Amino acid sequence: MIEQLFSRLESIFPELVDFRRDMHMYPEISHQEVETPKKIAAFLEGLGLEVKTGVGGRGVVGTLEGGKPGKTIALRADFDALPIQDEKEVDYKSRIPNAMHACGHDVHTSALLGVAKVLSEVRDEVPGKIVFIHQFGEEMTPGGAKPMIDDGCLDGVDLIYGAHVMSNLPVGEFGVREGYVSSAQDDFTIEVKGKGGHGAMPHMTVDALVTGSQLVVNLQQIVSRRVSPMDSAAVTVGSFHSGEGHNVIPEKAVIKGTVRTYSAEVRDMIEQAMHDVVKMTCEAAGANYEIDYVRDCPSMYNDPVESERLYQIGKDIFGENNVGLMDPLMGSEDYAYFQEEIPGVYFVIGGGNPEIGANYPHHHPMFNVDERSIINIAKTFIGAVI
Ligand code: MN
Repeated sequence: MIEQLFSRLESIFPELVDFRRDMHMYPEISHQEVETPKKIAAFLEGLGLEVKTGVGGRGVVGTLEGGKPGKTIALRADFDALPIQDEKEVDYKSRIPNAMHACGHDVHTSALLGVAKVLSEVRDEVPGKIVFIHQFGEEMTPGGAKPMIDDGCLDGVDLIYGAHVMSNLPVGEFGVREGYVSSAQDDFTIEVKGKGGHGAMPHMTVDALVTGSQLVVNLQQIVSRRVSPMDSAAVTVGSFHSGEGHNVIPEKAVIKGTVRTYSAEVRDMIEQAMHDVVKMTCEAAGANYEIDYVRDCPSMYNDPVESERLYQIGKDIFGENNVGLMDPLMGSEDYAYFQEEIPGVYFVIGGGNPEIGANYPHHHPMFNVDERSIINIAKTFIGAVI
């Protein structure tokens, strides 16, 4: 059955390329997507799928009821573009000034539509239910994943798969890794509020600068003394501002920083520890304080059993030599919210090909990928669900 589905994919490849190039010519940046979700919904409706639009705002969700019993599996592709001027010379370059598919989300979208098309043609043979999640606003914080989950796109879903094309991975290659593949990111701002005064009369003041300095030092002990050596985390103070003059004790110090963690337990512990350390340090000095602690993306955890299964599937599809361990993501990806809710796997597909100029980094004005990556993402999704 797989072979038949793959050859069907090959036969619709030109149609998928057309869809991708149309998206590429008319990109819509995060949280401004209007026509893109309409085009996606029209494609899915044309396949006879049950389609919901406006999910969590601008998302589109298509559902395919298979004819055989099985799990409910979600596949996710993002569809937003970036505020970048397209500078490459191809006939499908962006027609919209300062908007560009410079991260390959057009490729993700057409791959997922290809999967929907091929599977919908053999729906009687498909086990379980397949949920096609087309997500808006991935490139901005807050992104589209969380509101789509809140709007029920994962209700009843057992497993999810997501993919990213990578221009730094040669086309034809595939990568996956079990466990944590990206860290959670939280940002904090602490304002220490003392009482200002003359530099010659410190006893009349509450020195926010000294208190803030102690705080910077005390924060270093959260990771070194409270996180198990078996776990990992980073607490970084990246900014400290206090005072102006030689002889003035400042009444305020503002400290900004970031926290990176993997497990939810360590993440919660650090947030609590930060509040404790700030409270104790400021109270000891008689200072007041305010903490603004903002949780951004959670970490992304690839289910070990499913990752191993997908690794084997990847070997079958791409050949042993073209499968490897993916590098953990350095940036954040709000797909992590999906795998915070249910088990799943996020994998990477090569799109790099210097012969066609597809060798620029993501978010670069010359970014492009080899369109064979559309087929390769689609094949992996099909391998995963079938
Ligand atoms: Mn991306």
